[in-house]
Amino acid sequence: MIKQNILKLSAYKVNDFACKVRLDANESPFGFDISPEAIKTIQTNKYPDPEARELRAILSKMWDVAPENILHGNGSDELIYYCITATGGPVLYPTPTFVMYGIIAESLSEATYPIALNKDFDLDIDAIIKTIHEKNPRIIFISSPNNPTGNAFDVEQIHRIIKESKGLVVVDEAYHAFSDKPSFMSHIGSYDNLLVMKTLSKVGFAALRLGFIIGREDIIREINKLRLPYNLNSFSQAIAVDLLSKKQNELNENIQTIIFERNRLIEKLSALGELKIYPSDSNFFLIKPVDMKGAELYGKLLEMGVAVKSFGAAVPALDDCLRVTVGNPDENTFFLECMEKILNTKRTT
Ligand code: PMP
Repeated sequence: MIKQNILKLSAYKVNDFACKVRLDANESPFGFDISPEAIKTIQTNKYPDPEARELRAILSKMWDVAPENILHGNGSDELIYYCITATGGPVLYPTPTFVMYGIIAESLSEATYPIALNKDFDLDIDAIIKTIHEKNPRIIFISSPNNPTGNAFDVEQIHRIIKESKGLVVVDEAYHAFSDKPSFMSHIGSYDNLLVMKTLSKVGFAALRLGFIIGREDIIREINKLRLPYNLNSFSQAIAVDLLSKKQNELNENIQTIIFERNRLIEKLSALGELKIYPSDSNFFLIKPVDMKGAELYGKLLEMGVAVKSFGAAVPALDDCLRVTVGNPDENTFFLECMEKILNTKRTT
């Protein structure tokens, strides 16, 4: 009854066990209180605003683009689906990267060209350009900063990819708030084939499922034809409108705290000297123990109540790497204490 390509897929896996400190899902450690005023006017018997007009108007000011350039999704995952459905394949993306580009492409029976990152997790630009010329992908996804490696890619190389490609290029800026590299938003008018993807999930709104693509009005209009009616529920719209209009300062402060805490964690962990730590422009970073298997470190952290993300054999390039999401200052201090205990014990045994 089920198509072969679906039978072959693995579902997107999320850890759902209970533990003291969760540093495994790239969420923000800082949430916001919901004001009862914000949701008081919602009528449960009425559909939401299908066009999310108020929300798009606020974002249009924040991002300095017209509302017609913004398309709203129930998380950016939904928009990846729409983009690939709109263009068809082949779909090209560097790997390892966000798994949903591949999962969605395969679920739609589209050909995929995952191009391995080099050993420093930078783009293999020659291999990408060669594949663009040979296979003519109809859509390319570049997550910059990249999940799960944490680094932002060279901006000039991304420009080159956009210029060489005849297909659509989606620059996924899910983690851009934590990076000091320039955004591609200002280039939307200069290219025919560029879309920028944004999400509010990493800055404190993951529960609301708010993702966006920003691009030329004619492309947005075509992709909008695929959008399911009323895809953004009234609660998410109302809460986001209220918080984005009142809490910009708190939002920015939280981002600064996360960047500060990321740098503190990396500095303290580097001093332990038993880990390779990969540079990060995100709210998470990768570590690789020098004298221990990644799975062993993962298990020890879990015994102490800390969940991080391990990749295991499913992603050979990340074998032995663990991805650590930056938590709040107390969670980070607890994580550091656990790491010191584990690595000191290791040194004395
Ligand atoms: N893009 C990247 C690079 C991500 O890491 C994620 C979430 N892990 C998403 C998109 C999806 O975000 P959301 O659906 O929560 O908006």
